Parts: sequence; structure tokens; C-alpha cells
Amino acid sequence: NRFADFELSEEIVRALSGLGYEQPTDVQSKVIPIALKKQDLTVKSRTGSGKTAAFGIPICELVEWEENKPQALILTPTRELAVQVNEDITNIGRFKRIKATSLYGKESFAKQTAQLKQKTHVIVGTPGRVMDHIERGTLDLELIRYLVIDEADEMLNMGFIEQVEKIIQKLPKDRVTLLFSATLPKDVEKLCHKIMRNPVDIEI
Ligand code: AMP
Repeated sequence: NRFADFELSEEIVRALSGLGYEQPTDVQSKVIPIALKKQDLTVKSRTGSGKTAAFGIPICELVEWEENKPQALILTPTRELAVQVNEDITNIGRFKRIKATSLYGKESFAKQTAQLKQKTHVIVGTPGRVMDHIERGTLDLELIRYLVIDEADEMLNMGFIEQVEKIIQKLPKDRVTLLFSATLPKDVEKLCHKIMRNPVDIEI
């Protein structure tokens, strides 16, 4: 299995080889072709499996550079994970000039709001701060077509699930949803039923 076997543009394949990613990991081999077909997915896999690139690669491939509003929203339970995911997306999207913006608490609204006024394709953020930006009218969700919920079980443990659901209610219905979780407790399964359309289940 090679990245060149997937339907990826030259810019993305070149970025992956620059990162030293020679072969897709298991989770990447399973997720990338399905996500590229814009099917909803529930993925049970752990940190260290290459899960970030498993959603980062199709998202960088699918977003259109020309659009002037964010097209993908990635929700993470922690600020550290948001920073890491933002960095990975930036690296994978480098040659396509994909711009990602991270939104998390304990950082000034003014700085984040200024970033949101610039062209940005992908938003990576924690639920509380993302919701704050939605309520203040500083985050435009009109063109969001891809939603990723990363570490859904951690979202649950940290009490963020209700907030995640509230954010999802504000998103366009016509979208692709990808949910990643190390474990699938009942409440995460319930969330999947609520927010996805016939998801493909992948277990690594
Ligand atoms: P993650 O599970 O997303 O936290 O990724 C774990 C680590 O694997 C990160 O340091 C990635 O940079 C690295 N990684 C992800 N995909 C690949 C790949 N296809 N080949 C080599 N390393 C990878």
C-alpha cells in the first residue's frame, strides 16, 4: 500500500514524502479511501496509530483553496491536541497552501478573531472556545462541509458532549462527519447515531 495508490493530488503526496511518511498506517489505509468518497465514518483507534493524518489527508485533499470561508471543523478535547492537529494539517496542506486556525481557551479572543478574518480553510478547536466564537459571530460556519470529532471518548470524560452537540446543531446538514475514539462508550455511540448518516465503522 502506498499513498500514491489513493486518489490524492501531487501536492499532498509531495508533502507526505517530505514528512517522511512512506507508507500509510493501518488506520490511514482504511480511512482515506472512504473519507475521500465523502462517507461518514466512526473510527475506533488510538493515539499513535496515525489517526491525525487519517483525517488530515482527506481534509487537505477535499478543501478548495479558492473558498474564502472555513470548510472543515475539527473538534478536539484539549488545547494541546488542537495545537498538534493544527500543525499536522499545516504540514500536510503545505504545498496546497492550506491555512488552519486553532481556537482554544486562555488565549486572547482578539488574536483569534483577527486570524478568523484572514483566509482560513480549516478550524481546529476545543468545544468551549469554538462555541464562544459562534455566539460572538466571529466564526462563520456557512461553508463547513467536513466535521471531525477527535478523541470523542475524551470529550465525553471531560463533559464536553453537550457542547459538541450544540455546535453540531449550528453546522450545515449537508456535510461529512468523521468521529475518532479510542473506545466507544454508549454515549459516544448515541452521539454517532444522532449526527451521522449511515456511518461506516472501522476498528483498528
Ligand atoms: P497520531 O496517531 O496521529 O498521533 O500519529 C502518531 C505519529 O505517527 C505522529 O508522530 C505522526 O507524525 C506519525 N505518522 C503518522 N502517519 C505516518 C506515516 N504514514 N508514516 C510514518 N509516520 C507517520
